[in-house]
Amino acid sequence: MTGTIVYGSELSLERKGILKEKVEALVSTGKRIPCLAVILVGNNPASLSYVKGKEKGCAQVGMTSRFFHLEEDASQEELEKVIVQCNEDPEIDGILVQLPLPKGLDEKKAIDTISPDKDVDGLHRINVGRMYLKEKGFIPCTPKGIMALLEKMGCEIDGKRAVVIGRSRLVGEPVAKLLQDKNATVTICHSHTKDLPAVCREADILIAAIGRAKMIDHTYVKEGAYVVDVGINRDETGHLVGDVDFDDVREHTTAITPVPKGVGPMTICMLLENTFQAYEDKMK
Ligand code: NDP
Repeated sequence: MTGTIVYGSELSLERKGILKEKVEALVSTGKRIPCLAVILVGNNPASLSYVKGKEKGCAQVGMTSRFFHLEEDASQEELEKVIVQCNEDPEIDGILVQLPLPKGLDEKKAIDTISPDKDVDGLHRINVGRMYLKEKGFIPCTPKGIMALLEKMGCEIDGKRAVVIGRSRLVGEPVAKLLQDKNATVTICHSHTKDLPAVCREADILIAAIGRAKMIDHTYVKEGAYVVDVGINRDETGHLVGDVDFDDVREHTTAITPVPKGVGPMTICMLLENTFQAYEDKMK
């Protein structure tokens, strides 16, 4: 069985096309355009490139973006002042604080300073609570993108066994919750899991969100599984690779996402969709 490669780059293009039409409809009726504020502290090259990707995404769908760039040695107070300024600005619909923040800054406190109604990354404790209570709020972008990819794969989640490797607040935990809400039987694995390959081989759906280059080979994969690779790593030659050894695993899957062009573009696309949702909620 050679698994179908499901590209987030293609799916995100489709969904951005729909979003673009919605923004154009606003423009044609003279309405305000949705706006995303992106806040970056410091000059981490990976963060800079993610921020650029987000600004580019906004431009592609016709949304506006505002970039707030603070010095590497910015204080917590300076950061929170910018966040509050964005909270109070009626022209800004969504706020994203690019993570990780430089050492010495309190990420949780920064995120919780964002108004929950503008927290388009879905990381504020109010939105985390809303998600766990199945109430309307913002779903974190990467888990939301993973669910969209599974749908594109044609994966019927109900009743399936799902294994999520990784239990971060950003990816592993929320995606496990979303899978459970779709009636999968979910196991979350982490660095203390015993005999990880055997646990993973139980999975009809395998989500790898580890941060270890090509760790997942075919010995972790059940024949015919759906595999989503969240990892972004550099291999020894400097190339971008996932947590899954794609060439070794693909032939054992029904469908698989690649790295790059997999989950990454979907994360940005979901951020744009969440920003549009924030705009619509505000306008209601
Ligand atoms: P974290 O470092 O926060 O979490 C990694 C998780 O993997 C932890 O739960 C850790 O376990 C677990 N883990 C680490 N090593 C092992 C191991 N040997 N066996 C089993 N479990 C292990 O990372 P994130 O969740 O933030 O990100 C994961 C990956 O996804 C990274 O490569 C990141 O760059 C990428 N990413 C990609 C995004 C995208 O848009 N494509 C967005 C966000 C992240 P423990 O809890 O015990 O430490």
